[in-house]
Amino acid sequence: MGFKVTSHFSYKFRLLLLFTLCLTVLGWATSNYFVDAIREIPKAKDFMANFNKIVVWRKEETVTEEASTNKANLESCPSLSPYLKGRSQLIFKPDITLEDVQAENPSVHRGRYHPEDCQATQRVAILIPHRNRERHLLYLLEHLHPFLQRQQLDYGIYVIHQAGSKKFNRAKLLNVGYLEALKDENWDCFIFHDVDLVPENDFNLYKCESQPKHLVVGRNSTGYRLRYSGYFGGVTALSREQFFKVNGFSNNYWGWGGEDDDLRLRVELQRMKIVRPLPEVGKYTMILHTRDRGNEVNGDRMKLLQQVSRVWKTDGLSSCSYKLLSVDYNPLYINLTVDFWSDP
Ligand code: BGC
Repeated sequence: MGFKVTSHFSYKFRLLLLFTLCLTVLGWATSNYFVDAIREIPKAKDFMANFNKIVVWRKEETVTEEASTNKANLESCPSLSPYLKGRSQLIFKPDITLEDVQAENPSVHRGRYHPEDCQATQRVAILIPHRNRERHLLYLLEHLHPFLQRQQLDYGIYVIHQAGSKKFNRAKLLNVGYLEALKDENWDCFIFHDVDLVPENDFNLYKCESQPKHLVVGRNSTGYRLRYSGYFGGVTALSREQFFKVNGFSNNYWGWGGEDDDLRLRVELQRMKIVRPLPEVGKYTMILHTRDRGNEVNGDRMKLLQQVSRVWKTDGLSSCSYKLLSVDYNPLYINLTVDFWSDP
């Protein structure tokens, strides 16, 4: 009898336990659902804007689906392309036009290219901050397109144009480029590229490594020497994850200088190590110019550099606000026009 009572109680107890467990699981699942739903609401506007853009993209590119299946069936491209030529003497023809460059690059469409005969090892977005440098941009496009095609990359070139004539902000434009380019494609690698630097040697691969890469070891204007040991300016390559991990560039460098040193500090704070190609490979030609109006030396840069470890988490991709005025899919590049001065 004693045994029977115990067993009866334990049965009831077990039933109660099971019931409580079910209630807990149900409660947990619904609360997660609501938290996620609440988190998603602010993203909805962004998503819709992006979605509309994708729809426009797809409408114009009806062959995309077939092309992407074909692409997936291809073998991987070799780690070193057979089309590389090494160092070449760059010539800048004064009378070249955008139409000429277009005619020389028939396989580039809407700023993008991918190899036909193999699957590229990385999808690479080239981000070029820009204002009033049309001639430089033309020369860079002229040389960069065939250079990247020889490297067998799946790439897209983005020009991020700062509207208006107030102080220029290279770093913030690059943050915008990263955020906006990811709405088109899940790029593996980002190349942050000055408009006035042209690579001389196509063994300088525009790909990302396991560590952030600095590609400008030397330029003609400085006797092809590294400017200083921590120099991280001109052209750099960071993977999508590496750039995200450092919270991108600071948004607070207005005018010339400092933002690249700031990025180096962010990289070092994450215990990453900067890698570089050999000096013979990392050579660039700089197209000379006078300092632009609106890009005067930033007198605050030393002060800003002292606070990187304190502010990097809250100043960067996570706080980059801007107003996107237009996105134009031109034949040779995607142009983003951004305004920093009115509310987004
Ligand atoms: C500036 C950098 C610049 C470097 C080389 C430094 O003083 O802070 O932004 O890239 O000089 O010109």
